[in-house]
Amino acid sequence: MRAAEPLSSDQPAPIVVVGAGMVGPVVAIYLARRFGGVTLLERQSAPAPADPVPTGRSLHVVVSARGWHALRDLGVEEQVLSISLPLRGRLEHSLTGKLTEQPYSRRGQEIWCVERSRLNRLLRAAAVATPGLRVRHDARVLAVEPDVPAVLVEGLEGIAGIEGTTGVEGRARLTCEHVVGCDGAFSRVREALTDRHDRVQMNTLGLGYKEIRIPAGPDGGWPLPHQFFHIWPRNRLLFSAFPNPGGDFTGSLFLPLHGDDISFETIQTDGDAVALFQQLFPDVVSLIPDLAEQYESHPVNSIVTMSCDRWIWRDTVALVGDSAHAMAPFMGQGMNCGFEDARILDECLARAGEPADWAGAFAEYESLRKPHVEAIAEVSIQHYQHLASPTTTATAQDVLRQRVTGRLYDVFSTKFTPLYERCAFTEEPYAEALQQHLATERLVDDVLIGRDGNALLDMSRNEFADVVNRSRPRT
Ligand SMILES: Cc1cc2nc3c(=O)[nH]c(=O)nc-3n(C[C@H](O)[C@H](O)[C@H](O)COP(=O)(O)OP(=O)(O)OC[C@H]3O[C@@H](n4cnc5c(N)ncnc54)[C@H](O)[C@@H]3O)c2cc1C
Repeated sequence: MRAAEPLSSDQPAPIVVVGAGMVGPVVAIYLARRFGGVTLLERQSAPAPADPVPTGRSLHVVVSARGWHALRDLGVEEQVLSISLPLRGRLEHSLTGKLTEQPYSRRGQEIWCVERSRLNRLLRAAAVATPGLRVRHDARVLAVEPDVPAVLVEGLEGIAGIEGTTGVEGRARLTCEHVVGCDGAFSRVREALTDRHDRVQMNTLGLGYKEIRIPAGPDGGWPLPHQFFHIWPRNRLLFSAFPNPGGDFTGSLFLPLHGDDISFETIQTDGDAVALFQQLFPDVVSLIPDLAEQYESHPVNSIVTMSCDRWIWRDTVALVGDSAHAMAPFMGQGMNCGFEDARILDECLARAGEPADWAGAFAEYESLRKPHVEAIAEVSIQHYQHLASPTTTATAQDVLRQRVTGRLYDVFSTKFTPLYERCAFTEEPYAEALQQHLATERLVDDVLIGRDGNALLDMSRNEFADVVNRSRPRT
């Protein structure tokens, strides 16, 4: 990797990264390390260290294997670990208060959860400390010209080294060599590409969520076991909660946005909300004395998914993270996938020669990532079904399928791996993980259950292994 050269304050950076959310700082650090001059533009103000963590929006992300890989590359893994909590699985709360543990991994591996804003601050601080990388807050990108390329920015006026102001007060036109859009699901950078008739598909899945915080117990400790992601699945409805280091939990209530049945349209008042919790989440109500006030004051956020045909333009523009693919949050992979995008883009640029063939690297990046992103986006939507369906309401056929599949994972622990483990604890390309999962489902449904049914559960371990071995397609 080429050493980053220090940038004098009046030297325009050849690379502009738009957006310092979760993925932008990671991309900017990779690029600054490899090429030197990078400007990172963020429309929000820089958070002061003492600023309180904002409330009202679902505030946690889980970091899994792909995320850790990038954080390790950037040298911030230990810092991120120090602000994260380990989770060993989900803990399902039934309507009657029965608890069912669902470990994330058969080997006891943990995933880590961290407050989103704390992780974001840490990543922005790492970007500020990176030689060659300048972070500009309060800089809103209004438009991008992909052919030049140039970025029209509000909030950069009067800064040395910013060329070609348009003459409109408060705006500057920043010319550069490459623009990387990390500006999230409603990306301005993407707009510049999709203006050229490329397709964008946005969807809310008809689902919304509202943050409901569970305070720390009277002794300041966690009111629920903190080693778990807690879920209260009630079919299309779900309440879930992540622990915080301070003893409280950040909960999210997921409901359909609309509909005559239970939805954010019908649960409008704080009284409706308390009644809903009393009916569906009775073991939580007493833990949240200010439930009514929270329901009243916190916004409803939509789940937004987005896919688009084009992520790149020649050698000038690339999209990374949610600007290219916003996915449903239920597998906890959106940010992890964005970090993996950043790493793979960096690898493509590393292979791109000297001077770098940016057009070739962008094209390789897009073709390497797209099939996998499409796969994990699909899996993430389906996973809601899994999370929100109470195990107590599973049909006999579902239970048989789960038990046979569980047996398969147990008896052939190295040959068969559950999809969640593949996505969270390995860096196996998502599309391959999905293919393996579908092949396992076919084996269980069509071959094993289709032929032997319930008898599979009564077989000895060796008999079961024999049956499976005879049924598996030869590779
Ligand atoms: C409820 C929920 C839970 C989730 N949980 C997880 C999880 O557990 N694990 C996981 O991996 N992912 C999770 N995700 C997904 C994850 O939050 C996103 O994938 C991730 O934040 C994407 O990062 P990003 O940098 O691409 O976009 P963002 O984080 O949205 O950042 C975009 C940045 O660009 C800035 N910006 C936007 N427009 C402009 C502009 N015009 N000019 C300048 N700046 C601009 C914004 O201010 C923002 O800072 C979750 C998402 C949701 C909704």
